[in-house]
Amino acid sequence: MKKLTPLRKSVIEIIEGSSSPLNAENIYNELEDKPDISNVYRSLTFLENEGLVRSVSFECDTRFYFSTKREPVHFIHCKKCHKTESFYECIAGDIEERIKFRHDFTITDHVFYFIGICGECRKEMARKIEEGNV
Ligand SMILES: [Zn+2]
Ligand SMILES: [Zn+2]
Repeated sequence: MKKLTPLRKSVIEIIEGSSSPLNAENIYNELEDKPDISNVYRSLTFLENEGLVRSVSFECDTRFYFSTKREPVHFIHCKKCHKTESFYECIAGDIEERIKFRHDFTITDHVFYFIGICGECRKEMARKIEEGNV
């Protein structure tokens, strides 16, 4: 492995220490010495190209980065506040078997996510409806 700059090292540590995938801004907020945010983006691109972190994007342009060491990869993503969390139940086993045969395809990995609205955003929406300013 190539020698990592202190920034890249910190970025990996933050991603590996988090149970949820993080976007560049989340990572920037965790960094002690604040670099230019563009350096954070560049580090993330570099680390992903090197296979040291992975990323996923949902219905928005933001990419969320997560550790290559953490399995399995299942997320829930709130489309209002973009909060993203991991969960560990896996329902892929049966589906994998079927896909494997039907498509003559060797499956090596999967990323699975649900998109929806989190409890906080739901409450916020209900409050706004009650106040009548939707
Ligand atoms: Zn939300
Ligand atoms: Zn799974």
